[in-house]
Amino acid sequence: MSDSTLNFLNVPRAEPAKAPVEARTASYAEIYGQFSPADAATQASRCLACGNPFCEWKCPVHNFIPNWLKLIEEGRLFEAAELSHRTNSLPEVCGRICPQDRLCEGACTLNDAFGAVSIGSIEKYITDEALKAGWRPDLSGVRPTGRHVAVVGAGPAGLACADVLVRHGVAATVFDRHPRIGGLLTFGIPPFKLDKDIVETRREILEGMGVRFELGRDIGRDLAFETLLDDYDAVFMATGAYRAVAGGLAGEQLPGVVPALTYLISNINHELGLGDPRDWISLQDRRVVVLGGGDTAMDCNRTAIRQRAASVTCTYRRAESELNGSRRDYRSSVEEGVSFLFNRQPVAILGRDRVEGVRLATTRLGTEVRRGRRTVEVVPGTEEDIEADAVIVAFGFEASPPPWCAERGIELHPNGLVKVSPALPFQTSHPKVFAGGDMVRGSDLVVTAVFEGRQAAQSMLTLFGVEASDAARA
Ligand SMILES: Cc1cc2nc3c(=O)[nH]c(=O)nc-3n(C[C@H](O)[C@H](O)[C@H](O)COP(=O)(O)OP(=O)(O)OC[C@H]3O[C@@H](n4cnc5c(N)ncnc54)[C@H](O)[C@@H]3O)c2cc1C
Ligand code: SF4
Repeated sequence: MSDSTLNFLNVPRAEPAKAPVEARTASYAEIYGQFSPADAATQASRCLACGNPFCEWKCPVHNFIPNWLKLIEEGRLFEAAELSHRTNSLPEVCGRICPQDRLCEGACTLNDAFGAVSIGSIEKYITDEALKAGWRPDLSGVRPTGRHVAVVGAGPAGLACADVLVRHGVAATVFDRHPRIGGLLTFGIPPFKLDKDIVETRREILEGMGVRFELGRDIGRDLAFETLLDDYDAVFMATGAYRAVAGGLAGEQLPGVVPALTYLISNINHELGLGDPRDWISLQDRRVVVLGGGDTAMDCNRTAIRQRAASVTCTYRRAESELNGSRRDYRSSVEEGVSFLFNRQPVAILGRDRVEGVRLATTRLGTEVRRGRRTVEVVPGTEEDIEADAVIVAFGFEASPPPWCAERGIELHPNGLVKVSPALPFQTSHPKVFAGGDMVRGSDLVVTAVFEGRQAAQSMLTLFGVEASDAARA
């Protein structure tokens, strides 16, 4: 081991500065700053360069993490950006919003005793700074293949697929019903986690690489799916998973009860000046109760705080240690003033003409195990009522397959997720149609959607007989 691999003994883990609570809750701006070049190099130098990098294995796109950390330590920014883009189509996004504590940083050898290398913040630094300094993906050696793919959905899966295709000379046209690209990156995740300009910059990069976007085009309504099958060599479907899980609670239909995504999108549209201003849901001065413990619930909590709600209470039916969402976003919610009620299950939403409160019951762990976790059960006789002027339901999302799947004989699982082939990854039962992201795996993460979009592109290259290049490893 050379001396520099022992830097972690002298250099503590650090993150870029986080805005103080008062400043951050007064706006929707991102709350984390950026490393300086010197700080990025110093933090990168903490990497042990383990022979078998667990971080790389745990990262869903298998980023070459130790290699780009070394390049940053040596100040070789453009080479780091080039390497980072070989495995990830949206590194600046993943660096910001991946749950690193469960993924790369959770697997870092230094994590337990010394604090993991700040992998996410360095990944974000690389692309942000390289783009600012003029770096752009180099496609000068790419030769057109004459093939053309239609991508339905401009979320992370669709964008990643298009990225890998154009790097191999396959033309990609991406259709989306929204007026902007990004899917949930734009119309879901709030700007204090991911600034919308970051997604717009990515659009410019992709357009510069030759990706065509047809936005404001709802496939099935504005253009028949059949037309895509006729006009393109293959179709990649990445339309997400949008059916909100209902709680089945009495009172869920009362005015003042809002589905999480409706609330978040209304506020994003308000901030971006899109949509009908009358659709904006403002919870200023309201006592807000958020039901759920995932990323979506945390985003609703923190949006309501920024809207100046009178109070925000988040209820979750499991313990704090079992929260689904990112720990970082949970910690930020607590710092920003959200109150949490753990081990509480809503049993009814109360009110006559509009919502007035929520009835909760205390829960405990049951004996059954489902999906690797013990179930929870209500403790009899523990009901309590809390007051609320607004209730946001954030119980997650189920599959919402577009109708053309059934019409074209594209097979689905009983829960509505699209079936894909193990033989040619992400090919559906229709040989010309591929699928990936939330519509295949269920509501998950940006980085897993990116991985599947890239893998699907790889399968299409195999189908077309195009040799995969090392410049975009999928
Ligand atoms: C509130 C919220 C917060 C989240 N926070 C995080 C986080 O912090 N970190 C993280 O990793 N993940 C997070 N996620 C999950 C992540 O956003 C998703 O897993 C990811 O965006 C899925 O990507 P996708 O490309 O499969 O689908 P989507 O991002 O949903 O994109 C699908 C796209 O398809 C388009 N579309 C659908 N039907 C049609 C049609 N008929 N015609 C044309 N276009 C169509 C939609 O308009 C949309 O743009 C969050 C999700 C939510 C809801
Ligand atoms: S993509 Fe996500 S998991 Fe992979 S290195 Fe980046 S932040 Fe970590």
